This record gives sequence, C-alpha cells and structure tokens, in this order.
Amino acid sequence: MLTAIVGINWGDEGKGRMVDLLSQKFDIVSRYQGGNNAGHTVVNERGKFILNLLPSGILRDDTVNVMGPGMVIDAEHLWNEVKRLRDAGIVITPEHLKISDRATICMPYHKLLDCLEEERLADKKFGSTRRGIAPVYADKYMKKTVRMGDLLHPEALPEKLADLMEWKNLTVNKGYGHEAITPESMLEWLNTYAMPFVPYITNTTEYLGEAAANGKNIIFEAQLGALRDIDFGIYPYTSSSSTIAAYAPIGAGIPQCRLDEVVGIMKAYSSCVGEGPFTCELFGKEGDELREAGGEYGAATGRPRRVGGFDVVASRYGTLVQGATCLAVTKLDVLSYLKKIPVCVAYEVNGVRTEKFPMGVELAEAKPVYEYFDGWMQDVSGCRSFSELPENAQKYVKFLEESVNCPVKYVSVGAKREQYIRMY
Ligand code: GDP
Ligand code: MG
Repeated sequence: MLTAIVGINWGDEGKGRMVDLLSQKFDIVSRYQGGNNAGHTVVNERGKFILNLLPSGILRDDTVNVMGPGMVIDAEHLWNEVKRLRDAGIVITPEHLKISDRATICMPYHKLLDCLEEERLADKKFGSTRRGIAPVYADKYMKKTVRMGDLLHPEALPEKLADLMEWKNLTVNKGYGHEAITPESMLEWLNTYAMPFVPYITNTTEYLGEAAANGKNIIFEAQLGALRDIDFGIYPYTSSSSTIAAYAPIGAGIPQCRLDEVVGIMKAYSSCVGEGPFTCELFGKEGDELREAGGEYGAATGRPRRVGGFDVVASRYGTLVQGATCLAVTKLDVLSYLKKIPVCVAYEVNGVRTEKFPMGVELAEAKPVYEYFDGWMQDVSGCRSFSELPENAQKYVKFLEESVNCPVKYVSVGAKREQYIRMY
C-alpha cells in the first residue's frame, strides 16, 4: 500500500500529526521534497517534537524513514536535529534512517545567498525563511550542486568544490560584494556535518522498489501544502519544489510505482506563513482570537501565522491538484469558541463572484465572500465518534466535505495522537 499524506492548503495543516497517527500501520515513511524550511510538530507519549528534515516516522523504533532524492538537506541542520532527538532518547541508526544518494546538499552559501537576496529586496521581499531553499533548488536545476552520494567519493570533493566555488563566488563576491567563500571552508563543513551521515546513504530507488514489491506499506510525507507547490501554488510565493502527491513517488525515489491512496490534510480554518495572496485573511480582533485559539505560530521560525476562515475556493482547488482520495480535517476543536464560524465561500475578482481559484494579478486582487455558520460552543476534544460531535459540528464537517467534493475519513480534534475521529 502506497499512501501519500499531503497538505490541501498553505501548509501547517497538521500533516506531521496525521503522519504520526497513520504511520502506526506503515513500515516506511518517506519525505519526498523540501528542506528544513518548514516544521512538523508531533506530540506523543515521548514528548513534543519539532521535525524540520527528518520524516515523522523517526519517532517510532520500528518504522524505517527515508529522505528521498527530491529533498534538499542542510547537513548542519540535520546533524543538530538528530542530536536533539538523541538527547531526548530517540534511537537513530542506519537501520531506520535512509538518506538518498541523490538528495541535494544545501550548503552554507545557499543560506547566505538567501539572506543576501532578501536584504537586497528590502521591503519587496518574498518572506523567505532564509534557509537557502530557493538557491539550492536553483543550483540543482543548474546542475551545480553536491549530492549526498558525492560524499562516498571524498577524493573527488576538493576539485568539485573548487569548481563550484569559482562559479558561486561570481555571485557571492562579484555580485553581492560579500567576502568570497573558500572551497576549503566548504570541505571542512562537509567533513564536520555531512560525513557523519555516510553510513545512512542509500540507493532509495532500490530500497523502496524492493519494499514495495514485498508488499510493505509506505507513506509519502509532504512538508508543505498544495498552494506552495512550485507549479500549482501561489507563485512566486511558493516553495521551490513540488509539494503535490503526483510528485511523491519521484521525489521519494520510486517513480516506477503508483500511489494507492492520497490523504489530503485540510485544516478546519486557514493559516498562511509569510507574504503572498491570502484572500480569506481575517484581521483585527477576529484574526487575533483565531490565531490564539489555534496556536498559529510557525514551528520552524516562531513567526505569527496569518489566519482566516475555511477557504472553500482554495481548498477545493488544493484537493483537486492533490488528487486526494480522502481527507483528514484537522483542528476542528479550535473553532469551539466561536458563536458564528466565518467561511470564505467564494472570491470576488473585479466585482465578479467566482468559485474558481485564480492566479497572478487576479488572485492578488481577489476579495473574499464570507458567510457565517452557527458554531457549537462546546469542547469537542474528547469526542471519538462522529455522533458524539455536537450537531452544528457535524453539519460543519459535512459542509466541508461537500464543498471540496471529497470524502472526509478522519477528523482531528486535538494535537495528541488519540484525539481523532474515524469517519469510515
Ligand atoms: P504541519 O506542518 O502540517 O505538520 O503542521 P504544523 O505542525 O506546523 O502545525 C500544526 C499544529 O497544530 C501543531 O502544533 C500540531 O500539534 C497542532 N495540531 C494538529 N492537529 C491538531 C488538532 O486537531 N487540534 C489542535 N488543537 N491542534 C492540532
Ligand atoms: Mg508546519
């Protein structure tokens, strides 16, 4: 069984939490895109963990975790993340962490370039997390990067780095006027932070292909939502990789296999980190209360997230491009304080109502059309079946299901592993 668990919205839908829950029945969890620019929060009996690079299955001893070729890996960040987990008692060995030999290494100069460019842009900045993700993906497609597999041939690294730095310093030094970066310093960095992962380097195409052929259950874990996809998202306010499910087998390393199931994680309201169009955004007291209720602060950066009501237009589009076969609605409990629940049911573009998700200038100019649903005003975090939910909460879940045209299989009513409802 090959299952992708993907975000329907702008990210932070609770993917980490759902992967943690669903991975109980799975043998392998594979991350297929992105780097340490976003964070998953997982709360279980061992504590609260924020994972930026490692797949969420790392918290289970019997789950194998794969970091696929579609990922960009900041080795220093990975080194620190692994150390933090080990300090908390999590065992991490090459038996249950496999890093693709084709994954790209995010180097210190990628992070530097990210910062230099955001500074140059000043008030026109894109709201990059400054983790070097756009520069490293750009270099990947320029075919000028170091990949994990290169570490298996250390004798070739000095020359490779010398060539790379000669090219890179044209930008860093001659372009931005920053001090040039020496190949020696990059070699030292690789030796310190990347080399310790040599025992973990794996041909994930072989590994996953064999696992799939042997009937193993594999989860593909996305790190960002549909609306951050480089092709289908709110470009240029997107990430630099493909976040959608169709890319999962490629980014994980088994392009020869097809997905059996795509679980779309959809939040019961909206949140968005950073700049860019966010039509359903709520401001003032209404927004502040929702942000507080939902604890909407970035897991990786601590930044307050922008918030809004559930966005029918964006979520229907997200569900479509993900090809979701079922949905998990998360954070329903957060809405319990509301007497009237705001829902963005349509957009208005140039004075014309539309239910289609626009792009570019039209998206930037779209205005939300809000309707209000009756709230339930009672705690639902203890509910474990649909019938236990208050009637208005049931109606709300059914409304979400119909509005995006995809069956809801799970409803999450709290951050803890067992706080959820199985619908069928
Ligand atoms: P991800 O990036 O999609 O994995 O999501 P994040 O971890 O960035 O953000 C989701 C946040 O909501 C985390 O702090 C979770 O612990 C929390 N969370 C997940 N599901 C629920 C839920 O159903 N109810 C509540 N109250 N919190 C939840
Ligand atoms: Mg997140």
